[in-house]
Amino acid sequence: MKGINIDNLVRENIKSLKPYSSARSEYTGDNAIFLDANENPNNFPYNRYPDPLQWQLKHKISEIKGVDPKMIFFGNGSDEAIDLVIRIFCSPGIDNIVSIDPTYGMYQVCADINGVDYREVLLTNDFQIDTDKLLKKVSDKTKLIFLCSPNNPTSNSFYRDDILFILNNFNGLVIVDEAYIDFSSNESFVPELRNYQNLIILQTLSKAWGLAGIRLGMCFADENIISLMNKVKYPYNVNSLTLKVANDSLAQSDTKKIWVKEILSERERLNTSLIKFNCVEKIYPSDANFLLVKVSNPRDLYTYLTQKKVIVRDRSSVRLCDGCLRFTVGSKEENNLLLESIKEYDS
Ligand SMILES: *Cc1c(COP(=O)(O)O)cnc(C)c1O
Repeated sequence: MKGINIDNLVRENIKSLKPYSSARSEYTGDNAIFLDANENPNNFPYNRYPDPLQWQLKHKISEIKGVDPKMIFFGNGSDEAIDLVIRIFCSPGIDNIVSIDPTYGMYQVCADINGVDYREVLLTNDFQIDTDKLLKKVSDKTKLIFLCSPNNPTSNSFYRDDILFILNNFNGLVIVDEAYIDFSSNESFVPELRNYQNLIILQTLSKAWGLAGIRLGMCFADENIISLMNKVKYPYNVNSLTLKVANDSLAQSDTKKIWVKEILSERERLNTSLIKFNCVEKIYPSDANFLLVKVSNPRDLYTYLTQKKVIVRDRSSVRLCDGCLRFTVGSKEENNLLLESIKEYDS
């Protein structure tokens, strides 16, 4: 077990913070008459504030993921967890964050908003982590390292040993964003939580579960880290409608499995069809629900597809992604439209 003194990493103002105590967190039983929170007695169940710690949903996720409920945090999307971790551990103007480039844009946006120095380390040409270069960027003020695996927008997973090497050789917290883990042929890092107290894992209901609209991000980490996140978050950060839909949807895990299977087979079909086009130069191996595709004239193809009402993501100005568009794997019908449009463009 790699232990870490989490107290030494926390900002002083957060360490001494006395959190807001909501009515619903003081009395936690049920079957009572609730006259404690100035709620309206009409319009049940939405007249009631939601459970600030979402225990019911945590128990369900606990069973699915094999993680103790006390090691789970839910946020308004993963983005809330990203922001909270930065605010808890990084003092503006003093501490810094090390991350990779290219990767998901929100890490830098949250760092910038919080006035925290964000240090990027370019991936290798095959989109892997240069661990030596990354650890050289670490200073005594580096609190967090953000990694995203499978990575957005490069679509690949990082070598497991590289992530473990970073966990072993960094005395701060390593955040591994696993938003796309359900589409991956690699194992999740969740079982490593018992070996690494400095590991924070992000997952989400936005991708494989098809619930981007309800905004439910999940964070798995050491109990002490989760307690800090609970202390700093808004008291009712996950609303009743989100909890209701999430609870109902998790009961349909067979449906989710079918969706993932379909998306993976469509990913394969897109792969074999796209590579035949003249304008397609390269398709990077994907471990996620999207393809990073190098084409001969990305701006031109992007504009053409947009006119055909097929909207893709232009990543051609991202470092190491010259000439690349990013295609989300859609439904069979949607993918056929994408393929037909590119076929027209190609001829
Ligand atoms: C889509 C995505 C997420 C999901 O964010 P939510 O706020 O949970 O919707 C997180 N990380 C990465 C890298 C993503 O691409």
